[in-house]
Amino acid sequence: MKQHKFIADGMLGKLTRWLRLLGHNIEYAGSMDDKELIQKARKENRVLLTRDVELYKQAIAKGAEAFLIESPNQTANLASLAKRFKFKLEVNVKTSRCPKCNGTIKTASKTSVADKIPPTTSSNYNEFWQCQQCGQVYWRGAHWNRIEKILDEAKKTQATARLPVKASVFGTSKELLKRRREHGRCRSRKQDQKICEKKAEQETQSLQLK
Ligand SMILES: [Zn+2]
Repeated sequence: MKQHKFIADGMLGKLTRWLRLLGHNIEYAGSMDDKELIQKARKENRVLLTRDVELYKQAIAKGAEAFLIESPNQTANLASLAKRFKFKLEVNVKTSRCPKCNGTIKTASKTSVADKIPPTTSSNYNEFWQCQQCGQVYWRGAHWNRIEKILDEAKKTQATARLPVKASVFGTSKELLKRRREHGRCRSRKQDQKICEKKAEQETQSLQLK
């Protein structure tokens, strides 16, 4: 399976973790400003992922590859990305990256991770993986079924998934400019990114309903 290199803006923490799990090398640019994001995308040949229409337009104008994340629904976004970048919506632990830090993960023996897992986990599971960079230990816990369910749902809609319109088609509506200004403030105030992400999702939803 082909792995891709992405860079996600500070509002896409959840999506970043999903793409790492699917094996993609994705940098999460929590505190970078727009200029730095575009520069890094160009320099490292990363596709810039953003919810911000203005940033998307700017990135393309400056010669970076970019993809606009449009849906408030994670499943729909995964389906659109898989369609556009032609990757499988399946987790292969051999190629997965650490959702937390983007490091590579390797299989680990139970004894080598014993001090990092709860005793019940140790008695219930036999397969473990560990991030080579941050040391985080992973296993196919109770949440695994949920992960597979979301990926199955995304697979079903992949063929008909929506792709972002070309940057040149966008106008600069008042609403979009307002949205950008607000999130610029969130970033400069270093507010909790989760709050910011949630707000963006709500706003994207309300924009789509209009
Ligand atoms: Zn890690």
